[in-house]
Parts: sequence; structure tokens; C-alpha cells
Amino acid sequence: MTGEARIIDGKVLAGEVLDRVRAAVEELKAAHGLVPGLAVVLVGDDPASRVYVRAKGKRTVEAGMRSFEYLLPADATEEELLEKVRALNANPEVHGILVQLPLPSQIDAAKVIDTIDPDKDVDGFHVINAGRLMTGQKALVPCTPRGCVLLARRVREDLTGLEAVIIGRSNIVGKPLGQLLLNENCTVTIAHSRTRDLPEVTRRADLLVAAVGRPEMVRGDWVKPGAIVIDVGINRVPAAEEGRTKLVGDVAFDEVRQVASAITPVPGGVGPMTIAMLLRNTVEAACMQKGLPMPGVLRDV
Ligand code: NAD
Repeated sequence: MTGEARIIDGKVLAGEVLDRVRAAVEELKAAHGLVPGLAVVLVGDDPASRVYVRAKGKRTVEAGMRSFEYLLPADATEEELLEKVRALNANPEVHGILVQLPLPSQIDAAKVIDTIDPDKDVDGFHVINAGRLMTGQKALVPCTPRGCVLLARRVREDLTGLEAVIIGRSNIVGKPLGQLLLNENCTVTIAHSRTRDLPEVTRRADLLVAAVGRPEMVRGDWVKPGAIVIDVGINRVPAAEEGRTKLVGDVAFDEVRQVASAITPVPGGVGPMTIAMLLRNTVEAACMQKGLPMPGVLRDV
């Protein structure tokens, strides 16, 4: 197939979602005096995590919500963090709680996640939310997979019947995305590090999602002509200029864009959607806690 794929612009779509979040927040304030609040807890001073946390706080305030940020020292104990989480669970101004991962080795991340009130678990990582998603109940759904579905639906509103192949089976991306795409009536394959003949599997995909963490692993000849390709991977690699680095995805963009019909770039694809979905989830959590319906402006997001 000749021609270049359409680029699915995650920044533009995330901007649209954030506009809708802002409108929803205004509606909740005006009608119910409700100001959704998001608390983010960071342990340690990992520079990348600090950047994420700062960006989240800024977007939260821009959306008209309350932002609570807590920084614990790198040597904080598990109990100290659990105490903080329990206090946030009990705080009525906080509707969403996010503990930035990864955590230092002295802290058991699973235990921390399971201490978060499931109704405030805006990351959707709690086993209760994973179970609700799996069984078709109302759940807070992980942000990155939710963003992937919205990006795919930007190209094709109805994904029914598509062969979807996801590479990666993590609890935060691959597995929940599999469930979301099942809900969209796709036929879903989840491939992983032990999949036999991966390119053969990916060539079946009408919708291909790469969530691996291996720079440019998916080559042009792994992709079915006309496929929609969503690249979740974020990998820092050396740039052409001496001493510089750049971000690339799990997809060899220049090759794959010659074959696919639509593709997300890295950066500027899935990444911006994740924060937008986090704020959307915070609105949903606030509404759930107050027994209110989700504002109409966010219902199909
Ligand atoms: P993970 O390390 O938890 O999981 C990676 C998965 O890839 C595993 O299930 C593994 O089976 C599979 N895998 C590893 N090597 C493979 C191979 N050679 N062939 C096929 N499968 C292989 O990673 P994760 O947390 O799911 O993240 C995946 C990537 O997505 C990373 O690059 C991460 O930085 C990125 N990410 C981006 C966002 C975002 O907002 N854009 C959010 C989360 C993760």
C-alpha cells in the first residue's frame, strides 16, 4: 500500500477531553457546589516522576479542580505511606487518589494500591476495580488503556468486529485494554514476550496496540496494510546529535506509517491522553461519591 497513514494527534484529542472536563467541573460546581479534588502522592525525588506529578497538578487546577500534592522522602516507610493514603481516604475534599509509581523497594506497591478506597482509585489499579472491569460492572478504568480506546475511536467510531492485537500483558495497560476492546466488540489477542512468531500474530491485526517498552520493535512488515496502530511505548534513546537523547515508541514510526491507515506518534499520542483520562476519572469518582450521574458532556469520553 502506498501513501502515508493519518497521524492521530493525541495532544489535540486530549485538549478536547480537557475542555469537556472543565465544562463538567463548572456544571458540578454550579449545580451541586461540588469541586472535584485529586491528591497525588510522590515518594522520593525521581526526576521523571516529579515532572509527571507537576504536570498533573497543573492540569488539575486548569480544569477547575482542587489539587493536593504530597511529597514523601525516598526513605519513607511503608506504614508512613499507608497512613497518608488512609488520611486521604477519609478526606471528603479528596475524590481521587493517585500514588505515583514506581515506589522505592522498601514499599510494597500492591499493598499501597489495595489500601486506596476503590471509589477514589482514579488510576483503576485496585483489584476491586480490575474485577469490576472484568465482570462488566461500573469501574474506575486505568487511564492509559481508556485513552487508547478513545484514540482508536477517533479513526473509527465503531470498533465492532475488528481483530485487535495488543502486545504486552501488564496490569496497567495490556490486560485492562484487552477487556476494554472486548467491550468494544473486538476480537482480542494479547501477545507477550513468550508469544510464538509475533510478527505473524500482529499481521492479523486491524487494530494493533504496542505496549512493551522496546524501542521501535514493531516494524513495517509486522503490520497489516490499512491497520490502525496505537503506540503506548515511551523509550528514551540516544539522538543523532552527540550526547542528546530523544523519545521513541515501540513502533518504527517511519516504516509503519507507510503501511498503516492511522498511527499515533511518540511523543504526542497516547501520553497526553493519560492525564486527560485521569482528570476525567476524578470527575467520575467525585460524582460516584456524591451519588450524581456523570455530567452529559463527559458521557461518551
Ligand atoms: P511492563 O514492563 O509492565 O510490560 C511489558 C509487557 O511487554 C510485558 O507484558 C511483556 O510480556 C511484554 N514484552 C516484553 N518484551 C517483549 C517482546 N520481546 N515481545 C513481545 N512482548 C514483550 O510495561 P507497561 O507498564 O505495560 O508499559 C509498556 C510501555 O508503555 C513502556 O514503554 C511504558 O513506558 C509505556 N507506558 C506509557 C504510558 C503512557 O502514558 N503513554 C503509560 C504506561 C506505560
